[in-house]
Amino acid sequence: MLKTTIAGSLPKPGWLAEPEKLWAPWRLEGAMLEQGKLDATILAVKLQEDAGIDIVGDGEQARVHFVHGFLANLDGIDFNRKTVMGIRNNRYNAEVPTVVGPIRRKAPVHRAEAMAARAHRRGGLKFTLPGPMTIVDTIADVHYGRREDLAMAFAAVLNEEALELQALGVDVIQFDEPAWNVYMPQVAEWGMAALERAAQGLTCTTAVHICYGYGIKANIDWKAGLGDQWRHYEETFPVIARSKIDQVSLECRNSRVPMDLIRLLDGKDVLVGCIDVASDTVETPEQVAETIRQAMKFVAPEKLFPCTNCGMAPMSFAVAYGKLAALSRGARMVCEELGHG
Ligand code: ZN
Repeated sequence: MLKTTIAGSLPKPGWLAEPEKLWAPWRLEGAMLEQGKLDATILAVKLQEDAGIDIVGDGEQARVHFVHGFLANLDGIDFNRKTVMGIRNNRYNAEVPTVVGPIRRKAPVHRAEAMAARAHRRGGLKFTLPGPMTIVDTIADVHYGRREDLAMAFAAVLNEEALELQALGVDVIQFDEPAWNVYMPQVAEWGMAALERAAQGLTCTTAVHICYGYGIKANIDWKAGLGDQWRHYEETFPVIARSKIDQVSLECRNSRVPMDLIRLLDGKDVLVGCIDVASDTVETPEQVAETIRQAMKFVAPEKLFPCTNCGMAPMSFAVAYGKLAALSRGARMVCEELGHG
């Protein structure tokens, strides 16, 4: 009950990449880099377990960024043809690669780090992949033309990768869809169909993570203008409730999301964000417990998984793992109140 988990990324060690930076370039090369990615993955698994996290992730240690780490191993993308594009509905500009031909997977993308994490984890293992709509929103395209066709092409290769991760023993596969808080009508039109295509045939637990983004300035400024109540989930949760996806990861701590929107996810597992990734202030276990208690008004404890709001890649080690320790202590406090100490 109240099993803790993380949304996705964790900080990388300073010997692997420049700390406290999104898109940080690697500090190693060749075989040293490949080994370094695996060492960092195992370290991330162990540090999560030391912090008391029940269902650990790979911490996305082997990817520069949660979207482009996956794209790097696909055919049909020209990484030298960079396009500056406004992403997340022009919230910020990014220099993105361009789709120039049919999307195909050249080889397994995350096999090595999934095997390393699987070999060293004691409890459940979760693996994250970018969702089709979010990929489409983070890449330029001169081949497919229609966004929904491009999303389906990515969904097919995501599905190949997800089925392989499942065969390697991954317990939970989560698709990250921050774009679902931006293009809500398109989620019902084609976003969910693309996500279900990506998850087709999976028998492990499936999840979708929908957030308000990393704690970077563009996101913090965007959130400041969203008003007193963030109701974006109101449009997408009913679509998810009707889908085959098992779990939904959402942002709660320090957000203005009305907690009662969780009701719209009836029947699903809810990964409640109890850790703010846009602040270096480490939550107290009591603050975590209070977020869990608020969420428990709308979801049964058996279906509630205390989690982080989003990935923690740009944070310091001390802050990120301090927050994870608070997350597990807060969850334990509530478990004890419920008589499951
Ligand atoms: Zn996120």
